[in-house]
Amino acid sequence: MSHRLPFTSPLPVGTEMEFITDAIARQKLSGDGHYTALCERWLEARLGAPRAMLMHSCTAALEAMFLLLDLQPGDEVILPSFTFTSTANAVVLRGGVPVFVDIDPTTLNLDVGKIESAITSKTRAVIAVHYAGRVPDMEAINALGRRHGLVVLEDAAQSLGSTHRGAPAGTHSALSAISFHDTKNVIAGEAGALVINDKTYIERAEILREKGTNRRAFLDGLTDKYTWIDVGSSLLPSEITAAFLYGQLLETDGINARRRQIWQSYHAGLQRLQDKGVGLPPQAVGNDTLNGHLFHLILPRAQMRSEFLRRMADKNVQCTFHYVPLHSAPAGLRFGRAPDGCPLTEDFAARLVRLPLHGRLTDDDLVRIINATVSVLEEMNA
Ligand SMILES: *Cc1c(COP(=O)(O)O)cnc(C)c1O
Repeated sequence: MSHRLPFTSPLPVGTEMEFITDAIARQKLSGDGHYTALCERWLEARLGAPRAMLMHSCTAALEAMFLLLDLQPGDEVILPSFTFTSTANAVVLRGGVPVFVDIDPTTLNLDVGKIESAITSKTRAVIAVHYAGRVPDMEAINALGRRHGLVVLEDAAQSLGSTHRGAPAGTHSALSAISFHDTKNVIAGEAGALVINDKTYIERAEILREKGTNRRAFLDGLTDKYTWIDVGSSLLPSEITAAFLYGQLLETDGINARRRQIWQSYHAGLQRLQDKGVGLPPQAVGNDTLNGHLFHLILPRAQMRSEFLRRMADKNVQCTFHYVPLHSAPAGLRFGRAPDGCPLTEDFAARLVRLPLHGRLTDDDLVRIINATVSVLEEMNA
């Protein structure tokens, strides 16, 4: 029997131990040391952003966004229902109301045309999630933001290395959040970054991250002692995590190039499934690029999904579904609203399956996965 192909598998690039050993030798393991700075400067240079702050997760970066916005109880934030819970929790933790909007069926991103009707006098912000590393039409979202006085934010958890209209993902709004969770392209176990594109947020973000103190100004010699001056939290990863991450960041292009190759192999190898009503993810439009974060299929009918997953598992290929829509989940019903419903989210979320995509897959594995997918769907008479 062929070996089992897992859906995801964290892959070290080889330099991590060397950097971790060095971090330990530097005798400072708490955050904001040598490797934190190296990661932050790397991200700033790569993104062309005025400030990137390493955090212990993308979830922490999303939560920091709404502290920086001073989101008040009852304030509304528009976001897709088809996303991870952290996007909505960040709003709910401040007493805000997540307002769920349906997705565009081709990109599975927020449908820009449906944002306007969800705006009320309480709407403060819109969060554009970059599903599968694909950046939505940020120009249209930003134009809406300007017209209605809303802050535009990006959940760029999945999109490091993608580009949109020539600029890196995560740089098309005031603030964006990136993830380095084990399941993403560039990893550090648990880590994330807050990318600050609008400079007016930088000073307060430094205070927020320093547990509400002006420690940063103190270290920079701008004040003679540091004190508690605002709300804050503990958001930094340790230097051990930052050292691991730095090794990964330096290999970002190689990691993404291999993932893009896998993505293209699946796309080419599974073309013929479209005749059977199976949806493939679209290629990037215009000069946009994708980072090969994930590859999904949209099955013709929701009822087929559990059988598809089981039959693939029988062939030792681990596939999986993705988000359970937030608007109709117990916490979504309790904390949020979906003024126009999210019928496409419900439909697509129920039919979506993801194929394995990670750096340990060989070209032979890809052939096996493509053949398994085609034959399972044939056996099922898709
Ligand atoms: C992974 C992910 C997150 C959470 O990232 P963590 O670093 O695990 O906190 C948030 N939003 C989206 C869209 C994600 O894919």
